[in-house]
Amino acid sequence: MHPTRRGFLKAGTGAVVASVLGFDVKTAYAQAQELKISKTTETRSTCPYCAVACGVIIHTLGDKAKNVTAQVVHVEGDPDCPTNRGTLCPKGSSLYHDILNDRRLLRPEVRRAGSDRWEPIPWDRAFEEIGRHIKSARDESFVATDAQGRTVNRFENMAFIGGCTDTNEFNYLVVKTMRGMGVTYIENQARV
Ligand code: SF4
Repeated sequence: MHPTRRGFLKAGTGAVVASVLGFDVKTAYAQAQELKISKTTETRSTCPYCAVACGVIIHTLGDKAKNVTAQVVHVEGDPDCPTNRGTLCPKGSSLYHDILNDRRLLRPEVRRAGSDRWEPIPWDRAFEEIGRHIKSARDESFVATDAQGRTVNRFENMAFIGGCTDTNEFNYLVVKTMRGMGVTYIENQARV
């Protein structure tokens, strides 16, 4: 069969083009009609980009075996979340590409004083260095009493800011920890 140029342009879709060219498209149609989320596991989460903290549903494929990493196949707005009721802004709509991204940071990095680049650092060393910096900053700035001699026990050289995906439970622990050290500047943008 030799389609005319006009007939080829009128075809409009790949499936019809395939039909014009003589392929059997019934099987392709049947497979396309099955939704890609028909066999996925739904996990509810929160968009990490801004303080609106929209609810999202992450669809993953995988048999949940211990040595298998579930594969994310789709992310959409959560219609049951009162914040966004299923809607997502363009940033939230692109969340799938944030999860599946070769440039996604999966390990700690540090930029040393005077350096113009970030370098990878093992988790143990990152924890140890963070702890050491907190200790020295606290030792340098600790205020035991104010000008009137009242006990205040303030650690004023450090502040904490949390992200929009931090839960109430996480923030409870953060505030306990920070207040325990005397940190007074504590803030977060959580709405969850
Ligand atoms: S979807 Fe948009 S508005 Fe909602 S939390 Fe994400 S970035 Fe913010």
